[in-house]
Amino acid sequence: QIIQHKEKVEPEIHAYLHDTHERALAAAQKVDDKIAAGETIAPLAGVPGALKDNLCSDGEPVGAASKILEHFIAPYNATVVEKLQAQDYVSLGKLNMDEFAMGSSTENSAYGPSKNPWNTECVPGGSSGGSAAAVAARSALWALGSDTGGSIRQPASYCGLVGLKPTYGLVSRYGLLAFASSLDQIGPLTQDVTDCAIVLNAIAGHDPKDSTSIAGERPDYTNALQSDVKGLRIGVPAEYFTDGIKPEVKKAVEDALKTYEELGAEIVPVSLPRAKYAISAYYIVAPAEASSNLARYDGVGFGLRVPGENLIEMYKKTRSEGFGAEVQRRIMLGTYVLSAGYYDAYYMKALKVRTLIKEDFANAFSKADILVTPTVPDTAFRFGDKINDPLAMYMEDVCTVPVNLAGIPALSMNCGFADGMPIGMQLIGPNLSEERLLQAAYTFE
Ligand code: GLN
Repeated sequence: QIIQHKEKVEPEIHAYLHDTHERALAAAQKVDDKIAAGETIAPLAGVPGALKDNLCSDGEPVGAASKILEHFIAPYNATVVEKLQAQDYVSLGKLNMDEFAMGSSTENSAYGPSKNPWNTECVPGGSSGGSAAAVAARSALWALGSDTGGSIRQPASYCGLVGLKPTYGLVSRYGLLAFASSLDQIGPLTQDVTDCAIVLNAIAGHDPKDSTSIAGERPDYTNALQSDVKGLRIGVPAEYFTDGIKPEVKKAVEDALKTYEELGAEIVPVSLPRAKYAISAYYIVAPAEASSNLARYDGVGFGLRVPGENLIEMYKKTRSEGFGAEVQRRIMLGTYVLSAGYYDAYYMKALKVRTLIKEDFANAFSKADILVTPTVPDTAFRFGDKINDPLAMYMEDVCTVPVNLAGIPALSMNCGFADGMPIGMQLIGPNLSEERLLQAAYTFE
């Protein structure tokens, strides 16, 4: 049934880049057989979901929505895929995204944008925009996305969903096509907080294949699904409630804060004075890492090869034709800030700012258990509004990137509507506070 529904909505929404229906039906059959045999099944067994197009699943296409990986088939499973398979998951296909996860609208996809199911003239957000569009259109019941600077939370906000960027290292990055390795995290996009906890349970945990993976046992996140915020200290960073935030967004988040207070939470003003430098630092660190990570796409090892007179010509042609404009912009920016003479002036400076931002959060968490902010300054914008203005597009990330720079977890959930479009509220916590975030979010479920 969900496949039928998907086929019905896809022509309008375009959330998917590849279908894996045959595999999905076989996986579903396996679950039916288990049920018929009286075996117990895992919570996600047979529940149809889908994966962002930057996650490797053995034998299936994966391309990060880039021409450079057209027709590339993943030769192995990402760890998250292995873990999902252990739960007999069903995946309907690979979801659209901004090319190599660079962008905030899916307009950077080499295969055309996805549409926001709430209003198809608006973007679904990005870069995990296909993941958000699919879950919002119910053509997937859950999806995985990746978040380097906001790419799970911002589309969750624009599509009225729950999106979680886990603590850096909680979910293995093995098998995720890397954008900026020190910032990337995989996480769930779901209809509600309960589903978010269930998907997180399936994908979290230590993995020796990822050297940045956090050791130790993980809790059962569904235990956090209790509506109790009595005594919870909720920090409200003044810097996130300034004039740049659309008034309706500000009001919706403030109303949610009032509800928290009525339910017994304590609202404490906090300050993140260096957060204003986060965008500048992020747009140095992320492109620097991307320029290094994307060096491997040279026409030799993977995907597209455009022949040239000699090796250098072949590299040039392949990379010029294979990468889109935004990816090329980032590679140039990253190469520049890493080059001799500029490294200290830009890259080192950005790393220092990153440390200061971490310090700001540590100070805030000495006064508050979680922080609450808008996820994005506005609601979903219209196609074409920002695509020709990279700086306007980068400002989309102003509320989300500080979290990635600090490596801490954050969840976005719906807290209202403006002109029929969803508004997102961001809950931020210290390292490994996912249970606390889920519990605070569950209050509104
Ligand atoms: N919009 C941000 C960027 O373009 C974030 C992307 C992401 O989180 N993958 O870099």
